[in-house]
This record gives sequence, C-alpha cells and structure tokens, in this order.
Amino acid sequence: MKVYISADMEGISGLVDAADVQPPGRDYEHGRVMMTEDVNAAISGALSGGATDVLVNDAHGPMRNMLPDRLHPRGRLIKGRSKPMSMIEGLDSDFAVVLCIGFHARAGSPGVMSRSFMGHEIEDMWLNGQPVGEIGLLHAAAAALRVPVGLLSGDDAACEEMAAWDSSVTTVPVKLARDRFAAELRPVIEARASIQAAAHNLLAELSAAPRQPSAPADVCTLAVRWQSAAVAAHLLGIPGVTMRDTRTVQAEGKMPDLYRLLGIFLRVAGSLANQGPYC
Ligand SMILES: [Zn+2]
Repeated sequence: MKVYISADMEGISGLVDAADVQPPGRDYEHGRVMMTEDVNAAISGALSGGATDVLVNDAHGPMRNMLPDRLHPRGRLIKGRSKPMSMIEGLDSDFAVVLCIGFHARAGSPGVMSRSFMGHEIEDMWLNGQPVGEIGLLHAAAAALRVPVGLLSGDDAACEEMAAWDSSVTTVPVKLARDRFAAELRPVIEARASIQAAAHNLLAELSAAPRQPSAPADVCTLAVRWQSAAVAAHLLGIPGVTMRDTRTVQAEGKMPDLYRLLGIFLRVAGSLANQGPYC
C-alpha cells in the first residue's frame, strides 16, 4: 500500500513564527529538524499500520526544508522547486492515501501562519463557490486523482478547516492557535506520538477496507481574489481565464488541471508582487 505525504511547515509541532519557517529566520534551522521529525512520526505510523512504500513531498516555500539524512530510512523524498504540481507533485492513482503533515488554515482565518499560497497577495479563493485554501484545494485535486486524504496535522484551525471540508479525515492538532504568530503548544513528544498513532490506525483501517474519495464535479470553477488589480489584469492573458471583478479572476476546468493552473497564477503574481509570505 503506497502512501503519499505532503509536508508543509506552518502546522509543524512547536513552530509559530515566520522566523521558524523561512530562511534565514533565527530558528529556521531548528524548524527543519522539527518538520522532519513530524514527518518521521507519520512515516513510522504508516509503515507499522501496513504501508509498503512512502513518498514524501517537501511542499513548503523553498521546498528544500527537510533534512534527507535525518528522514526515516524508508521515506523517499521529493525535494526542491519549482514543481508543476507543487504540493501534490508525484501523486497519482497508485497511492492509497494522502497524509497532510504540518498544514495551516486559509488566508484570513485566525490560524497560526494562516495564508493561501502567498502573503497578502491572495485575499481569498473559492472552489465551486465555496471558500477554499490550501487544504481544500489539495483535497479536491487528490480526489480527482482518485486518492483520498486520510490524515492532517496542524494547528486547531487547520484541523477544523479540514473537518469542515471532509469529516472522514483524521485530524491531529499539534498546537492551539492564540493568534496568527502565537500558539499554545502541545508537548512535542506527545504531538509526534499522536501523529504516529493516527497514521498507524489509518493505515490499519485502510488495509482492511480501502477508501475511494467521492468523485469531484467534472467541471470545477476556481476563483482567486488578489490584493492587486495588476495581478488580475495580467492573468487575463492566460486563455480561459475570465474576470469576475477588477481583482478577481476565475477559470473552469477539471480539478487536477486547475491545481496546475493555479501554480501558473502564483508564478505570475510572484513576479509582479514583492511581498513576504507572512506580511
Ligand atoms: Zn508552507
């Protein structure tokens, strides 16, 4: 049974600040260790629960955060950027399940380091009219590839966002948000043990009864509201992209394709805007 781990950093045990998750932040080097260890907990649990193969995608910022020589020896790592499918690079229908480790809530929500892919540049996103962030979009893209999301770790806001999107996903809160850059931390050893136990139980369950995600709509609509009208105006140059208002663009298509298209949006926006990821 093949397991895919998408690893983000904002929702990792013990991390609360931009300086914990962005080079050359004061505690970034330690944050890399913390990220690798949360992922190791998920790998250990998945393997003891019945996984035969674990692929980990470093899906945060520079995507060169995790420490390969500290990673569980059975984990295979995708490291570096850019990647056309970004946070789900390498995911296909051969995988039995996706585990989301270290995830965060969407832009505007009161979660630790909440955001949607960029800093303030993306104000909001909607998938088929429903407000969405990185959690919902990944879930929808994975479902389109016929792979269910089975587990998510992050702060309590990320866990609530996941549960609202799909209540069948096991969530592991590793910290309780007090503000956007403050949290009440769960003891780290306990948090990692919870990730490991949840991954074990999930894989044991899937070994007995594989899951199939419900099929997404054939045609989905993704709308993105930008802080800058200039970004929206530039994106109109992409065939199929239409304007909803001066700062909001939308596109229709099949879900994995829209996920890839969003990656193009982000590259265009990144070249026009010069904002930090946590402004
Ligand atoms: Zn991230």
